[in-house]
Amino acid sequence: MKILFSGIQPTGKLHIGNFFGAIKNWVNIQHDYKSYFSVVDYHSITIKYDPEEMRERVMDMAVNLYACGIDMEKTNLFIQSEVPGHADLTWIFNSVTPMGELERMTQYKDKAQQNAKNVNVGLFDYPVLQAADILIYKAEVVPVGEDQVQHIEFTREISRNFNSRFGQTFPEPKELLTKTPRVLGIDGEKKMSKSLGNDIGLLESGEEIMNKLRGAKTDPARVTRNDPGNPDVCNIYSYHRLVSHEDERSEVVDGCRSAGMGCVDCKKILHKNLMKVLDPIRDRYENINKNKVSVREILTQNAEKCRRIAKQTILEVKEKMGLNPLWKI
Ligand code: SF4
Repeated sequence: MKILFSGIQPTGKLHIGNFFGAIKNWVNIQHDYKSYFSVVDYHSITIKYDPEEMRERVMDMAVNLYACGIDMEKTNLFIQSEVPGHADLTWIFNSVTPMGELERMTQYKDKAQQNAKNVNVGLFDYPVLQAADILIYKAEVVPVGEDQVQHIEFTREISRNFNSRFGQTFPEPKELLTKTPRVLGIDGEKKMSKSLGNDIGLLESGEEIMNKLRGAKTDPARVTRNDPGNPDVCNIYSYHRLVSHEDERSEVVDGCRSAGMGCVDCKKILHKNLMKVLDPIRDRYENINKNKVSVREILTQNAEKCRRIAKQTILEVKEKMGLNPLWKI
């Protein structure tokens, strides 16, 4: 079985963009590979945060993933900072990474702009830590969105740099692009994001979600109920593609184009189908939350397994780099 790695930052509450854009895909493919999923908390300390809140967020993300259907035991779901090999390998990779390669990373430029008052080395070095996350398990497959493809290319570059200098050690991982293109927020303009306030929370109640849908952008050319609309340019229809059955989708398309269906009714159908997906996740989340101790136990066991594998990689790397002179005695 090929090895798969993917990580998610403990950013707080998940939204449907996270679910349909990434996590649902993880759930679908998790048993096709030897999978590692990580709550990558080291990646989230490069911006200012409250430590107490961080503790909550890390645990909450693990519970969320479990509730979404990640098989915690079989997939080695773990917390990144509990496996020190990630940081070890990052430092080693720093020494085979040309500055120029890192400077080209577009996400760094964006993040530096967003955090102009706190542009730290961690923010700059983020792709190297990401490469270490993947390569410490010698993962060959990394499910990502399009905005992460550059980082996977960069990981391959690091792998090649290390291998050519110290001998074949790491694979060159490939990105596995999710079929769902990026999910736009309810503003219909920008990628769904909690910080932009255009999100639909994964665990929000039916009522809260309906309220958000009421104000969500539709086809801008459909000004009155009697104007025909165009589902191809309507963000609400892009949500229908995620949750509605083909029959209902064609009903929406016909109703929209002929003005036989109003946007309010269209949103009600969407809401019904969306809640069919989200209600069971929220129920599971509430149940799991009642017994967080067992989640913590599984995370601890998984971190232990990951530490063992990471240690093997680090020993191999150090051996090749001449960093363990006592090793053979
Ligand atoms: S009927 Fe539906 S698809 Fe058509 S414009 Fe309104 S919300 Fe969009």
